[in-house]
Amino acid sequence: MVALDALRISVSYQPLIMSNSSVENVVIVGTGCAGLTAAVYAARANLNPLVIEGPLPGGQLTTTSEVENFPGFPEGVDGFQLMDNLRKQAAKFGTRFEQALVQSVDFASMPRKLVCGDRTVLAKTVIIATGASPRMTGIPGEKELYGGKGVTTCATCDGAFYRKMEVAVIGGGDSAAEEALFLTRFASKVYLVHRRDALRASKIMSDRATTHPKIQPVWDSVPVEAVGVAEGAVSGLRVRSLKTGAESVLPVRGIFVAIGHVPNSAAFSSALDVDANGYFVPAPGSQVRTKVPGVYVAGDCADHVYRQAITAAGMGCQAAIDAERWLAEHGG
Ligand code: NAP
Repeated sequence: MVALDALRISVSYQPLIMSNSSVENVVIVGTGCAGLTAAVYAARANLNPLVIEGPLPGGQLTTTSEVENFPGFPEGVDGFQLMDNLRKQAAKFGTRFEQALVQSVDFASMPRKLVCGDRTVLAKTVIIATGASPRMTGIPGEKELYGGKGVTTCATCDGAFYRKMEVAVIGGGDSAAEEALFLTRFASKVYLVHRRDALRASKIMSDRATTHPKIQPVWDSVPVEAVGVAEGAVSGLRVRSLKTGAESVLPVRGIFVAIGHVPNSAAFSSALDVDANGYFVPAPGSQVRTKVPGVYVAGDCADHVYRQAITAAGMGCQAAIDAERWLAEHGG
């Protein structure tokens, strides 16, 4: 099973053809809400930004369904559509997109250096908006059965494969509630496995999930094994009750892991401050400035508190405006 929504995105990749001698005004790493909003602002400021696009164009919103809380869309908006629109808006003002993976950086000298395989991108300012990736449970069987064998992190992408089958969602946040609700369109039953006796999701999502006739919460329970490795496909999820210690196997064919995310900061962590969980730590007095002049962070890679599409977009906007001002002051 593949991330169908991710494939829908209308990207036209360019190989990374930067010459080592050209120095970019602004390099934006990442194409989620933060990166693309930064691109819109930087492009409208005539900075001719280069966006480096990683493995999931459009970021996390391309794998979600309806976004109900992005301002300006009273009927909600499809996550993929929102990101496609944002990308078109950035391109309209002259943003350039290139596909590459930043592996390491050298921010000690000017221009700043971003190493992408055998090429190095040079930049006066850098906006890092690399987002976060799904956290996995690490239980036996999860890795072996991931991707097409029954373990997944994306109900929007894979939910339709589980028509009339029983599935489990692991987690208790908004993502887990959203995934469980989405899966009720296809699955005959959705177990919602959470290690507490109440969801941490917002009240509206929690109420919707816990009162849905197809969703059965499995409270105070942790997953211990994705069953089915020998057969090559999920045949169950073994869970343990934290109250009694008893184990049981939920007879599911799909396991949807929705237990939060880890920030994609590793390639930059030697040059910038990160906290114990890997989130970028901005310089005092700013949400987006870092200890390196002209280097900014935005979105979920630097925000473990709000983590919303609209707050990521706001940080992208701040970072682009700060980069523009920095270039104006330092001869951009
Ligand atoms: P989250 O809020 O961090 O929730 C993660 C959940 O997974 C928690 O319930 C946590 O349990 C559980 N968990 C973490 N590690 C686990 C483990 N190893 N084993 C079992 N359970 C584990 O993450 P999220 O749901 O992805 O949401 C992230 C942010 O995005 C939030 O700010 C959320 O509001 C937002 N969001 C909003 C929407 C929306 O508004 N439509 C949709 C999705 C996400 P504990 O409760 O015990 O910590």
